Amino acid sequence: MKTLVIEDSKTSLKLLCDYVRKIGISPIPAETGAAGVDLFLKERPDLILLDIIMPDLDGYEVARQIRQLEAPGDWTPIIFLSSLNKDEDIETGIAAGGDDFLHKPISEIVLSAKIRAMQRIIQMRQSLLILTRKLDAANLELKRVNSLDGLTGIANRRHFDEVLSREWRRAMRQGDELSILMCDIDFFKLYNDTYGHQSGDECLRKVAQTLASTMDRGGDLLARYGGEEFVAVLPGTTLNGATFVAEQMRQAISQLNISHPGTPLAHVTASFGVASAVAMPETDPQDIVGAADLALYKAKHGGRNRVCQTTSLDPQDI
Ligand code: GH3
Ligand code: MG
Ligand code: MG
Ligand code: MG
Repeated sequence: MKTLVIEDSKTSLKLLCDYVRKIGISPIPAETGAAGVDLFLKERPDLILLDIIMPDLDGYEVARQIRQLEAPGDWTPIIFLSSLNKDEDIETGIAAGGDDFLHKPISEIVLSAKIRAMQRIIQMRQSLLILTRKLDAANLELKRVNSLDGLTGIANRRHFDEVLSREWRRAMRQGDELSILMCDIDFFKLYNDTYGHQSGDECLRKVAQTLASTMDRGGDLLARYGGEEFVAVLPGTTLNGATFVAEQMRQAISQLNISHPGTPLAHVTASFGVASAVAMPETDPQDIVGAADLALYKAKHGGRNRVCQTTSLDPQDI
């Protein structure tokens, strides 16, 4: 622990430093207010003993300057030492940023008792800071876990909705296009009926991983939309770009070659719907999701294992 001692009288300064040293604390002596402020910045002491009447900056001004130099949330206790002992002097000292007041001549016993009391407060404050940091980290982790789907480990629907509205606002500011891609595994009920729910879960994990590995752009987000449906938001991507991504995903899933007897290709496939729009204030981003969903419906009815696209957000046109 380091204590900055700011006192213009050489004799008092030496005495105070001796007192402080005796209780196992290293003193940093300063003979003027200005030197005290400099040493505060250089040494970052844990405690400050501060004389009030000094020829250059008085103690009140030094306290004010130190408080301004502290980073938000930082706090170094200041104990004023002075022969001034009117109620108003104490009031001015506390208002200037001081924490305690000791009357001169300084008693060694009282000084060491006050320093111990301050040490207790410093320690409690440090424990509180550590606890706050742990709490912040735990909250961050909670937020991360809350945004993931438990089965597949990719983002969940809630996180998708958050990212979509954020990306939509960004696209609106930049006059950009945004694409949505929906994916639904074909005949998945039959897969569960054939192999059981646990194998179905395993298949969902593999499909999610495969979809994720096909997306390589930083701003893209893949999420589990529900059951065996996945959705991706592709900011700054045209309809053709998104359709290309969907086509790659479709092929990658087919190439997994997960056996699925009773379906046309006898392995797991998926259907895709893609929609795009230039972000406008009058459009709701969920309308693009709806359009992609309708395009997916078209893909299902067109025979599955295919990609369908739409540029219109009007359900009548899709
Ligand atoms: P289609 O080709 O038309 O999409 O047919 P489908 O059988 O895939 O579609 P349907 O919507 O009839 O069935 C979806 C099935 O997905 C129903 C359910 O058994 C299965 N499913 C949904 N969520 C999960 C899950 O978390 N785990 C497992 N194993 N299966 C799920
Ligand atoms: Mg003095
Ligand atoms: Mg479905
Ligand atoms: Mg399905």
